[in-house]
Amino acid sequence: MLSYEEALEKLLDQIPKPVPIRVPLREALGRVLAAPVLADSDLPPFKKSFVDGFAVRSQDVVQAPVKLEVVGMIAAGDSDQPRLESGQAVQIMTGAALPEEADAVQMVEKTHRVSESEVELLEPVAPAENVAARGSEVQMGETVLARDRVVGAAEAGVLATFGRAEVEIFAPPRVVVIPTGDELVAVEQKPAFGQIRNSNAYTLWAQCQRLGLDATVLPPVPDDPDQVRRSIQVGLKSDLAIFTGGVSMGEYDYVPQVLAEEEFTIFFHKAAIKPGKPILVGRKNDHVVFGLPGNPVSAFVTFELFVRPAVRRWMGFQRHTLQKVSGELVAPVRQKPGRKFFKQARTDWVDGRFQIRPIETQGSADLVAFSSANSLLILDADVIHLKAGQKVEVLLLNDE
Ligand code: AMP
Ligand code: MG
Repeated sequence: MLSYEEALEKLLDQIPKPVPIRVPLREALGRVLAAPVLADSDLPPFKKSFVDGFAVRSQDVVQAPVKLEVVGMIAAGDSDQPRLESGQAVQIMTGAALPEEADAVQMVEKTHRVSESEVELLEPVAPAENVAARGSEVQMGETVLARDRVVGAAEAGVLATFGRAEVEIFAPPRVVVIPTGDELVAVEQKPAFGQIRNSNAYTLWAQCQRLGLDATVLPPVPDDPDQVRRSIQVGLKSDLAIFTGGVSMGEYDYVPQVLAEEEFTIFFHKAAIKPGKPILVGRKNDHVVFGLPGNPVSAFVTFELFVRPAVRRWMGFQRHTLQKVSGELVAPVRQKPGRKFFKQARTDWVDGRFQIRPIETQGSADLVAFSSANSLLILDADVIHLKAGQKVEVLLLNDE
């Protein structure tokens, strides 16, 4: 059986190369840039005032107080500026362009308006004071965002600054979630005896949303080979199909068998992890398929451990796996050795360090207990017992 690291490497090696596409600026949020962004102009594009005040020739204000003649006013957005002779000033607003001859601005707080046509500057002004020179932030043609940069809120603003109404990013995969199991009923329904609600449909959909993917969710597929086969045909319309349930060794677990019959290459079926041992991953042409276990905690965890890195690789992210941090265990843990255990835990920053509290549950079905976790405590396969106070590592869930 492959270790987690071996299984993940095998999977990531098989993910198709990221494909660049152009999207409207808003749709680029959370995506990775497929090309560098170059400045289409200097920034600021003109000599600009940082403050509300009076634009002057600084040599007129070496000594202060000094009175200057006011020859007009310039607001942000004004394009015609008065000419400034020696001994003159022009009132100016934050963000407005300075007249050609002016090289400094005295802020309004340090002036006294004597009359309509005269202002007294109370303190001297140095050359370039309160003024941003044209191109002082960025020069035209400079790279302002590198390829591979993830578009966040600030990047969205940078893209807008340089007129990128459309942005070249790496395309997200089209994803379909396919729950399987005769026992599954819709959330609106009251389960009859032996039935349960199809909760994984919501968990996996939400996990996809967190990755910026709008997954299609199929209605539950009954445990019947022909119906599973039909759902695979539907799955092949997407780039990535995520089955849940029906991948173990039970009599009615048809997903592995049908994928093999449909000529999928299976990279691995089973990994030495807990929870989630039955996981299956394969590929046919450029379509990748995941068979996640049906148990709700196993489905959640295997999504984070395998689907997430695969999706992030697909979308061109440089970092694929969850953020790992180390901290101090605040309660002891025990486990049966044999498989690497990703144990649900609560990790909190307390007194300048991470404190990690393992959460006890009733097993891989216990999503209620699991839902209070914000991290996965990594217990290597040979670990039997860890004492409180020991240093451990966790993967942070809810990581962006
Ligand atoms: P399976 O992997 O099909 O053997 O299912 C393992 C366990 O997970 C069983 O108790 C199933 O009822 C449960 N299960 C399977 N699919 C889902 C689902 N979509 N939502 C909630 N529980 C599920
Ligand atoms: Mg099942």
